[in-house]
Amino acid sequence: HADAAMYRAKECGRNNFQFYTEELSARNAQRMYLTNGLRQALDRNEFQLHYQPKLEARSGRVVGVEALIRWFPAGGGMISPAEFIPIAEESGLIIPIGDWVLATACKQAAGWRREGRDGFRVAVNLSAAQLKNRDVVQVVAQALRDADCPADALDLEITESMLMENPEKVSRTLQGLCDLGVRLSIDDFGTGYSSLNYLKSFPIHELKIDQTFIRDIPGEAGHASIVKAIIDLAHSMELIVVAEGVETAEQKAFLERERCDELQGYLFSKPLPAHQLGQLLDSGAIGRAWSGTVS
Ligand code: C2E
Ligand code: MG
Ligand code: MG
Ligand code: MG
Repeated sequence: HADAAMYRAKECGRNNFQFYTEELSARNAQRMYLTNGLRQALDRNEFQLHYQPKLEARSGRVVGVEALIRWFPAGGGMISPAEFIPIAEESGLIIPIGDWVLATACKQAAGWRREGRDGFRVAVNLSAAQLKNRDVVQVVAQALRDADCPADALDLEITESMLMENPEKVSRTLQGLCDLGVRLSIDDFGTGYSSLNYLKSFPIHELKIDQTFIRDIPGEAGHASIVKAIIDLAHSMELIVVAEGVETAEQKAFLERERCDELQGYLFSKPLPAHQLGQLLDSGAIGRAWSGTVS
């Protein structure tokens, strides 16, 4: 019996090992497949930017959009940035991809301003590797110049965790970006561990509350009090505060009551290609979604 039990355990262990290695190599294969695909994606024009509106909470006015990258590989389908951005970061491909995002978003922002959308802003997500690149200020300046885009039409979103890695260096970089006239926004706020003391010393304009806190409000008391605390913190520092991932009328009502400045989420619109977003803006449908006259 003992031998049989030992034999079974070994079999079982071997099987576990086999599953483990199979899973690992499947993951590695997927990663290699995506990396190879990403190398060619720019040349093949497989990326698109979609744009999601940001609304002023008290008026329902659309003040701008966030640009979100989408990858449509030749074989069909769509790959989400949550899946390929980390791989692009590891392989260094995020630098040329990030340059493309900046150039495309600046051209679009300039176009919307020329169409007469006064004050309209486009927010671009910067990755850690882009921010660490010592040329980042020149890269952004060049993208604005090439697109003939006013600096006040561009916002840059960086995450909270990117602030804390090397705060002195990051602070100098952010000051350089700020001096260009772009606005800086801290994305996914509340998920990192930024020191409030440091936060004060960065030239930032806006905090975006992470959507994990928005998801369960107003029902979840813990998250509701975190959201209130972030709004108060932002206002005490004279920062604009934005809620992302707003999906329900209840969330919107809570955020309005707590004086959140701007709202972004599926309740108003999902991210859309530029021309579709333009049509949506002109249709007035977002205002109706905001005032609750359509569901
Ligand atoms: P993020 O910057 O925090 O963007 C917000 C994400 O939430 C987007 O996902 C957006 O589509 C999604 N979202 C918006 N409203 C709602 C809602 O009401 N409910 C829910 N459940 N989700 C909502 P997406 O487009 O898949 O992007 C994921 C992340 O990928 C972004 O998070 C950002 O970190 C990164 N990313 C996207 N585009 C770029 C880019 O051009 N460059 C870089 N470096 N990162 C990017
Ligand atoms: Mg963002
Ligand atoms: Mg975010
Ligand atoms: Mg996020």
